[in-house]
Amino acid sequence: MDQLSDDRFAHSGALMTVDEALEQIERRLEPVVEAENVPLRAAAGRVLPQDVVAGMDLPPHANSTVDGYAVAHSDLFPDRETVLSVGGRTAAGQSLGRPVCRGEAIRIFTGAPIPEGADTLIMQEDCVAINGSDGGQVRVKPGTKKGANHRQAGEDVSAGAVALRAGRRLFPADLGLAAALGRDRLPVFRSLRVALLSTGNEICDPGRALPPATIYDANRVMLAALLERLGCVVNDLGIQADCAAVLADTLARTAIDHDLIVTSGGVSTGEEDHVRNAIEQLGSLYFWRLAIKPGKPVALGQIGTVPLIGLPGNPVAAFVTFVTIARPLILKLAGAAPPPKLFPVRAGFAHRKKPGRREYLRAGLDRGSGLVAMKYPRDGSAILSSIVQSDGFAVLDEYAGDLAAGSVVDFMPFAEALA
Ligand code: AMP
Ligand code: MG
Repeated sequence: MDQLSDDRFAHSGALMTVDEALEQIERRLEPVVEAENVPLRAAAGRVLPQDVVAGMDLPPHANSTVDGYAVAHSDLFPDRETVLSVGGRTAAGQSLGRPVCRGEAIRIFTGAPIPEGADTLIMQEDCVAINGSDGGQVRVKPGTKKGANHRQAGEDVSAGAVALRAGRRLFPADLGLAAALGRDRLPVFRSLRVALLSTGNEICDPGRALPPATIYDANRVMLAALLERLGCVVNDLGIQADCAAVLADTLARTAIDHDLIVTSGGVSTGEEDHVRNAIEQLGSLYFWRLAIKPGKPVALGQIGTVPLIGLPGNPVAAFVTFVTIARPLILKLAGAAPPPKLFPVRAGFAHRKKPGRREYLRAGLDRGSGLVAMKYPRDGSAILSSIVQSDGFAVLDEYAGDLAAGSVVDFMPFAEALA
């Protein structure tokens, strides 16, 4: 029996592969194009609609990377100590205001602009000050290379170069770079407005006593957090009963003023599963069953102009299909497209698998001789602790069969999957 339900051709037709589903998303959905100009602090996690071109050199002026002395390298003896007179002092935020004279050293501190005529910075550890550090003389050890301890103007980013590429989801360091280039605002695509609901007569909100035969809603808060991590504004529509007419009515009303609808549960073939029918009744269904484990029932459709993704009810399946299908869909709508990176690691476990579905095994990462993935012992699609206790997914390709312990497996860290 197990064989039949896992068969790609069971239940009226083949399961669609994850890659085919992603291709459909790529082909059918268009980015929401409106942009807005926001303060840098509000731009974290948002998507850049256009390249950010540097309006200045970064750093803007050549400066010292050390506390020490600025000198002309040609004033130094190559093979013995040189004594130079200390003719001035310059610290960060100051300019010397004149060129360095021949035979002169300038006392300088980290970040100070390098005075004209100096080409080499000597660390103070390689010098001995004579008569105090701010006047008198300094004895310089031989051996410092010409150009040492020196940051060139524009060596990080030169004026006119592209500092940040269009389509990038802004990472904290991106904001730092934009600020370093003098920007206090950035253009970003506007946030997606996402309606989120759970389905199921057995589903209750946490925080109150659990009525008989019910369970708490694990999906909605998890999916809301996943959506918000991607910069979406979530409209929480709560829990919908398993009632075809009510669900269709809710979806029809919701499809008006949102960019995306995300549901969980009610998407497989049972009599109490109404999401797929509602999509077919109100709009178009693009797919509803994928060759993926966990998570086979996942529907993509569109009601009017608004896409709808129906995730499975089991929380692990909802998480896996969010990462694999909903996340790329959201990034496409949001105007960004970086796929999560997979890293080859060693499998510290054996796993039986029939070809047909791509499997996402929850696994921890151990550091042995190299990185070793250790599969979480229980892998049911309702075992949410399998995600809580793991570091990421070991991803087994559709076509792969049994996995032998010690073989190389693709690993997708949660940090990548959720970024
Ligand atoms: P369904 O896809 O609606 O048939 O749900 C599959 C399984 O997931 C059932 O055991 C449901 O009770 C469970 N489930 C559905 N929605 C949720 C939810 N929001 N939180 C926790 N479990 C759920
Ligand atoms: Mg249900």
